[in-house]
Amino acid sequence: MILRSFAKINLGIHLLGKRPDGYHEIVTLMETVDLADDVAVSGQESGTTVTCSDPAVPADGRNLAHKAADLVRDRYGLAGRGVRVHIEKRVPVAAGLAGGSGNAAMTLHGLNALWSLGLREEELMDLAAELGSDVPFCLYGGAAVASGRGEKVKWLDAAGSRHYVLVCPPFEVSSGWAYSQSKLELTKDSSCINLVSSVMQAGDVDRLASCLHNDLEPAVRAAFPEIDRARGLLADAGLEGILMSGSGPTVFGLASGRAAAERMACDLRGRVEPSWRFFAVSSKSRWEAGV
Ligand code: ATP
Repeated sequence: MILRSFAKINLGIHLLGKRPDGYHEIVTLMETVDLADDVAVSGQESGTTVTCSDPAVPADGRNLAHKAADLVRDRYGLAGRGVRVHIEKRVPVAAGLAGGSGNAAMTLHGLNALWSLGLREEELMDLAAELGSDVPFCLYGGAAVASGRGEKVKWLDAAGSRHYVLVCPPFEVSSGWAYSQSKLELTKDSSCINLVSSVMQAGDVDRLASCLHNDLEPAVRAAFPEIDRARGLLADAGLEGILMSGSGPTVFGLASGRAAAERMACDLRGRVEPSWRFFAVSSKSRWEAGV
């Protein structure tokens, strides 16, 4: 079976503190967008085989889809079952778009169906949290506020849809590095996330642009001038609500509609080096697992 593994963007991230386990306590508002990898999950005699169309992505036990398969096999005593996962990569890697987390989430759904495990949402969410902070959100996507280290997810009823232009400069940012460089004293309260949530629920795109915030952005911006260049390109194109997603380097801006986003992405592609990638994307509502 082939599952679509969608990217996410963060419309707000606040770092609230450092936890004893080394992670940060955060609150973030995430939204799924319709830029996706395909994750094909099928049976094989034994073991786990992962392949990926992007040779830069590790296909061994470091791959999050591989980790997902090994975790399910160990947890449910399924040593005799084999699985093959092929990932057709379209989501830029290490770009703040949770590409790997989405692949792991879809592998969990795929295995649930392939091995007839009958796992319910709570069990899938627990497995996902063991694999990574963004994996629980990626299981169902849509719009949600996530807290803890990002694994406690409360889905939102977001009204209407939103359209964005994403710009991905040609380098990777390690999430661990971005967190380690970010200052905790920037914002101690998460009122901005509450504001973004209520604006999303009201479907008020005009107000949304003025309340986006990412505590990880200043440190990444200070280290990589490409972030300001990306911001400048989006601003010149007329986009509003410009923000870095996750730990970067992807920067997005809000467009007035899909056609406008497509037009702007197309114009921007012609203005910079081909290694810079631009995507016109739209929000995608919560996916009810019907695998
Ligand atoms: P997040 O937004 O959740 O922090 P990200 O979008 O910044 O994630 P990923 O695309 O998930 O980052 O990649 C982070 C690292 O994980 C990469 O450097 C890559 O080597 C590794 N990785 C492991 N499995 C995968 C996968 N299936 N797809 C992409 N990267 C993977």
